Amino acid sequence: MAEDIRKSVAADSPLGAWSLPEELVMLRDSVRRFMADVVRPLEATLPHDCPGPPPEQLATLQAKARVLGLWALQTPSAFGGAGLGVLGQVVVAEEAAKCRMGAFFPACGAFGGNPPSVLFAATPAQYEKWGRPIVEGRATRAFNAISEATGGSDPARAIRCRAILDGDAYVINGAKMWTTHAGTADYGIVYARTGEAGQKGGISCFVVETASPGLTRKPIGVLTSYSPFELHFDNVRVPVENRIGGEGQGFALADSFLVQTRITYAAGCIGLAQMALEHAIDWANQRETFGVRLADRQAIQWMIADSEIELRAARLLTYQAAWNADLGRDVKVDASIAKVYAAEQAFKIVDRCMQVLGGLGVAHEMPLERWFRELRVKRLGEGASEVQKMIIARSILSRRAG
Ligand SMILES: Cc1cc2nc3c(=O)[nH]c(=O)nc-3n(C[C@H](O)[C@H](O)[C@H](O)COP(=O)(O)OP(=O)(O)OC[C@H]3O[C@@H](n4cnc5c(N)ncnc54)[C@H](O)[C@@H]3O)c2cc1C
Repeated sequence: MAEDIRKSVAADSPLGAWSLPEELVMLRDSVRRFMADVVRPLEATLPHDCPGPPPEQLATLQAKARVLGLWALQTPSAFGGAGLGVLGQVVVAEEAAKCRMGAFFPACGAFGGNPPSVLFAATPAQYEKWGRPIVEGRATRAFNAISEATGGSDPARAIRCRAILDGDAYVINGAKMWTTHAGTADYGIVYARTGEAGQKGGISCFVVETASPGLTRKPIGVLTSYSPFELHFDNVRVPVENRIGGEGQGFALADSFLVQTRITYAAGCIGLAQMALEHAIDWANQRETFGVRLADRQAIQWMIADSEIELRAARLLTYQAAWNADLGRDVKVDASIAKVYAAEQAFKIVDRCMQVLGGLGVAHEMPLERWFRELRVKRLGEGASEVQKMIIARSILSRRAG
């Protein structure tokens, strides 16, 4: 028994103690090599704060990723993708975040080929029209427009954007806020109200082409290197066949896919924090002040130790959530725990590591200040930390009461 347990222990496991299945170790190593051989040399030639590679270089990068099988990883095999499980997606997200472009890097489409998940619930004709071109690399990724100026945490109540049926089309009026990728995507998934105000069941989901007459886009300046967009819909006509799912099913569709996304989001945060910690360790080992190495100062050792503890805990929570998702368990609470813990701790870790590096920590010469800004937003994206805690607390409180 003890021998069985010892066999599953691997020193270099991202879990700290327990090893990943062999095929995921191979996948992780393949992503690691790709990042070292292709991505980091390319980004060294790009300006510090560029959101991602320019289109031509991105296309070359994607072609190389596809050759290695790093394509359409999240897309089920029935839809032409690699059908990677959630644990595999976590392994990839963590490794792919280990570059200056950070956790935004995989999201910018480098390991692309994944249509929006709601299209896996679309009709075969809809999937062929909107999903297949992305899997085959003939279209860019899509944007996802849920949040509005009236609020992103509680979209069921906050969505005011309205779609009214008029013959063979819906006419959409209103505005969306904070929509990532709306500057480059060919189309997006837009959630609009078709029913009563305030009702979850009153929201429907539509594919809207970016070039639709009446749709205008304006970038919103934020602290990250990329800009989300404000979208305005002025009598935008969307054919009935662009509605995904039944009328009023939009919210339920979004909810079913958002949970899983939080787990890979957490993994991206962990990748960034791991890189920051490695920079801090290297610096502490070489920098001397008052005749003593920083590494020999207890104040610095504690910063390194706290970061390692938090990183391991975040990784375990994230891998456990992924593991449970792959077993088909309900991971709503696990995903929220992983997301809130990883995003909050990663932010703290990067902040601490910047402190270890002194002035260099905040300089553009180093990637840490960019990760710091990116992680600040990660505490809000995919459901803010307070909202994740609300989900966790509601579940625990109701279970206990029940
Ligand atoms: C860079 C960036 C990119 C984004 N990309 C997208 C995108 O692609 N698509 C999209 O649809 N949205 C996107 N968003 C929007 C994002 O999802 C929202 O900002 C987020 O959900 C919070 O919504 P809000 O900004 O309206 O804040 P609010 O919902 O108004 O919340 C404000 C504050 O109150 C807290 N709060 C809310 N409810 C509670 C509660 N019950 N208890 C305690 N505290 C609470 C929140 O945690 C937050 O701190 C993006 C945002 C940013 C900044």
